Amino acid sequence: MSSKDPIKTCRVDPKTFDLKKVDPQDHPGMKDKASAALATAANLEAIANWQYRLYAENKQALLIVLQGIDAAGKDGTIRKVFSVLNPQGTRVRSFKQPTEEEREHDFLWRIHRNTPRHGEVGIFNRSHYEDVLVVRVHDLVPKKVWKSRYTQINQFEKLLSSSGTKVLKFFLYISPEEQKERFQERLDNPEKQWKFSTGDIEQRKYWDDYVDAFQDVLVNCSTPTAPWYVIPANRKWYRNWIISEITKKAFEEMNPQIPPPEPGLDQIVL
Ligand code: AMP
Ligand code: MG
Repeated sequence: MSSKDPIKTCRVDPKTFDLKKVDPQDHPGMKDKASAALATAANLEAIANWQYRLYAENKQALLIVLQGIDAAGKDGTIRKVFSVLNPQGTRVRSFKQPTEEEREHDFLWRIHRNTPRHGEVGIFNRSHYEDVLVVRVHDLVPKKVWKSRYTQINQFEKLLSSSGTKVLKFFLYISPEEQKERFQERLDNPEKQWKFSTGDIEQRKYWDDYVDAFQDVLVNCSTPTAPWYVIPANRKWYRNWIISEITKKAFEEMNPQIPPPEPGLDQIVL
């Protein structure tokens, strides 16, 4: 296990990053499930407190972007980590295949209108990154078009950040073996079968193409204002802990403040 700060270990440095060197089974900075559960619970309590302050302050926003291949744990992360957030002040949005109306606009149109306003936490289950991932892997637009999107995305995220929105991006990285197990679980459990589509098997054939597409996304779009974090996600307990850890740290950096009371409140007698 690395003795380095686990948050730093997960943050993508575009100069040196190589996805092939990341082990999805790894758990830097946390030894086992039991310790992770305790540390995660403490982090979630802190996050809930910070969100209260963010909402009261009403001057900044936090946007969390979740990306990952099918069954990587995007829904699970929202359920296990971000369910601690007060729904009043949280905006969750899943991005599926674009509707006809969405397709007739630029790729950021549907994204921008769903970004959080000041005081809110926004959570994207998939995002504008699909437009340089699935779109690239399946040749949905010419290469020239998706290639120019890296710069457009970086500029867009810079715009968000300059208007008070902190952007955190998590890539949940699982192994093909882990995905197979999770698909099997979905197939075997009648309560989970709805999550499985036969197209999911088809997608597995494109695994290496997705890895290449993610590698390029991670090195082209991990910026100082909106860094990418690669989360080894085979172990759900690690995934939940490190995401709660990074989110808590982001709140600490934002440091939202409860606004001062109206003058004279201490004089009021009811
Ligand atoms: P799910 O997350 O399982 O509900 O699936 C949503 C599907 O929508 C995934 O297969 C995504 O790859 C696909 N999707 C999301 N955004 C886009 C996009 N911009 N273009 C094409 N497909 C997309
Ligand atoms: Mg799916």
